[in-house]
Amino acid sequence: MMPEVYNSRARKILCLLLILLWQNSAGYQGYACIMPMVTSEPEPVPKEILLGDFDPATHPDFAQITEYNAHQVMYLQRDAKLALDSLVTLAEQSGIRLYVISATRSFQTQKRIWENKIATKSSGSFAALPRNRQAGIIREILDYSAMPGTSRHHWGTDVDFLSVELAFWRGNTGKKTFAWLSDNAPEFGFELVYSRGREGGHNYEPWHWSYVPLSHKMLEDYVATISYDDIQGFSGADLAEEMEIIPRYLQNIFAYR
Ligand SMILES: [Zn+2]
Repeated sequence: MMPEVYNSRARKILCLLLILLWQNSAGYQGYACIMPMVTSEPEPVPKEILLGDFDPATHPDFAQITEYNAHQVMYLQRDAKLALDSLVTLAEQSGIRLYVISATRSFQTQKRIWENKIATKSSGSFAALPRNRQAGIIREILDYSAMPGTSRHHWGTDVDFLSVELAFWRGNTGKKTFAWLSDNAPEFGFELVYSRGREGGHNYEPWHWSYVPLSHKMLEDYVATISYDDIQGFSGADLAEEMEIIPRYLQNIFAYR
């Protein structure tokens, strides 16, 4: 028979081991009945990131994409880039060529894209047009482009693959790539954002995929902290509120649950 002291020490060690094992298991929820847990709310994402008013080249949370970008220098948030590295590698092994044609975009880049479209659609006379005509032009542009300050591309979590032409995605390579992405991307955290079957919002975009483990919080923080006063500094910004851009174009996606 074991001495009582040894028995009691062994019980304590066994108990500690069981607690440690349990804490490391998937079922552990940090129940405070075992030991006090320090829980803190994650910091909200800074407004500059949500609005694209920062330089990813010098931001410590961002990393450059170097191996599968179609052109120019591109950045993503580090964790999104790591997940994308793995996704692209698996794609290669499966005979699917994935490359990124757009990743993080700044407010200034989005403003350039936006105002070029405004100028084209209004023959350069947007400011002189009546408000309802301005709203009509903006609605058309919003089919495929976000207002500056409201683009998910500001966040460093979203990418466009291969082509922004629907014709490409209707072709053989596009169909095969899309089927492969639908089967495999979610395992790596990437989901189709502008899916079919939503009411309103931006049109269906088979090329646009989002790293939801990060972008879900970006969207939550966006809705919680950004007001229409923050969406300023480009042609048509004064129409953002009455056109309900935040609920209609940002919240209106599956990833906001
Ligand atoms: Zn996109």
